[in-house]
Amino acid sequence: MSTSSQSIGSSNSEFRLPRQRMVERLRDHYGIKSERVLRAMLDVPRHLFVPEALSSRAYGDHALPIAAGQTISQPYIVARMTELLESDERSRVLEIGAGSGYQTAVLASAAGQVYSIERIAELAREAQARIRSLNIYNATVKCFDGTLGWSAHAPYDGVLVAAGGPHVPEPLLAQLKIGGKLVIPTGETREAQRLVRVVRTENGYEHEDHGACAFVPLIGRYGWESNPENKN
Ligand code: SAH
Repeated sequence: MSTSSQSIGSSNSEFRLPRQRMVERLRDHYGIKSERVLRAMLDVPRHLFVPEALSSRAYGDHALPIAAGQTISQPYIVARMTELLESDERSRVLEIGAGSGYQTAVLASAAGQVYSIERIAELAREAQARIRSLNIYNATVKCFDGTLGWSAHAPYDGVLVAAGGPHVPEPLLAQLKIGGKLVIPTGETREAQRLVRVVRTENGYEHEDHGACAFVPLIGRYGWESNPENKN
């Protein structure tokens, strides 16, 4: 267990029971097998990442609204995407779409170093503050267009995109290590996607389909155009 998750665990006994039930559901109903991921889901206090009025619903089997019209993903999606990255304590991971910072905290527990990008300044600031207040020091959140990747820290063992784009952004493929894994929802419309995992091999990139999903849109240079009408 990393230092960060130990300090989270010891300072966080609130909502322990609902969190344990959530982890049982992930294991027994959803078939999440990675002990590393299940432990991370048990460690991170999800209720601190949702609006206070919704904290009693934080461990339910659903996504919830956060600020700026965005959402915190359903626990299953967070666990599944993290599992697909197959990270360990040596992994350097890039996350696009920090949102509340919840997935960032889960990644920080499951991987070695996490670089996270969020395009909405208010969310990036709050996500970073939550991460720090939980004494997580191996994750950083910055505000810019994540479809460009973050070349300063590349190449990455894992890239996790938490918003749905029309295709896999080129810069993210280029910033992946050989053997590295990229997980992203992609689809022809803004509303519905397939969860795709791309594995970089010596010879190129292998794409796998991991089923239907629905994320908020990935907005940026290699994503969808911004749409002022719904403030995305
Ligand atoms: N994983 C998050 C959920 C994020 S919702 C959580 O656990 O709370 C998806 C986020 O992606 C939104 O906050 C949205 O603003 C952000 N986003 C969309 N396009 C982006 C881009 N090009 N770069 C960075 N963030 C982006």
